[in-house]
Amino acid sequence: MRLIISLLVVFTLFFCSNMVTAHEPTNLGLLKKEVVKYHDSGEYDKDLTKTIGKAEQYLQKRIQKAGVDNKQKLAVVLDIDETSISNYKHMTELGFGGTHQDLDRTMGQGDDPAIPEALKLYHLAKANNVAVFFITGRGDNLRAITEKNLKDMGFNNWDGLYMRPADKQYPSIIPFKSSTRKMLEDKGYDIIISMGDQKSDLAGGYADATFKLPNPYYYIP
Ligand SMILES: [Mg+2]
Repeated sequence: MRLIISLLVVFTLFFCSNMVTAHEPTNLGLLKKEVVKYHDSGEYDKDLTKTIGKAEQYLQKRIQKAGVDNKQKLAVVLDIDETSISNYKHMTELGFGGTHQDLDRTMGQGDDPAIPEALKLYHLAKANNVAVFFITGRGDNLRAITEKNLKDMGFNNWDGLYMRPADKQYPSIIPFKSSTRKMLEDKGYDIIISMGDQKSDLAGGYADATFKLPNPYYYIP
């Protein structure tokens, strides 16, 4: 009897797993339309504003607690793409795809607009003696144009810009980003906020609070 039950379980598991893998995913063309609708309807902006608003409230609270002298060396860590500036125009040009070369070429144009709420958060931090660091998966071959893009869009006097070494493609960006945050904390900074549009921007610790912005456009492990 036990053998029969075991065989039944194995058969059922095998059958079900085949059913799962045989399931047809959502049509890509329809998904792309949905993503454009999410952006163009204003829902995307609404979700961005809501989350960055929470980050701003938290920042205000920590600034008040630290007092004017901010002896704790408070710091904010921001991701760049889809967090501080938006690639949306180029994403639509590339049909939400493109090779690494295509992406480098479009980022190399240096014309990505600021995400206004992120810019506001940035200036709130800087005006209150809170350091701001950018940590990005962009390759450091794009350093000059990225700095220019950020400055042109109103970010200035940041405290550090850490970019992925151009000759390295990581299976996950988590170790690079989290070890950079660790290095900053080892230097004496208290990273109060880490904000990004990918879970991999935020995983791995070394931040008091994390804020995940929406990004239905692409995935970075
Ligand atoms: Mg990003």
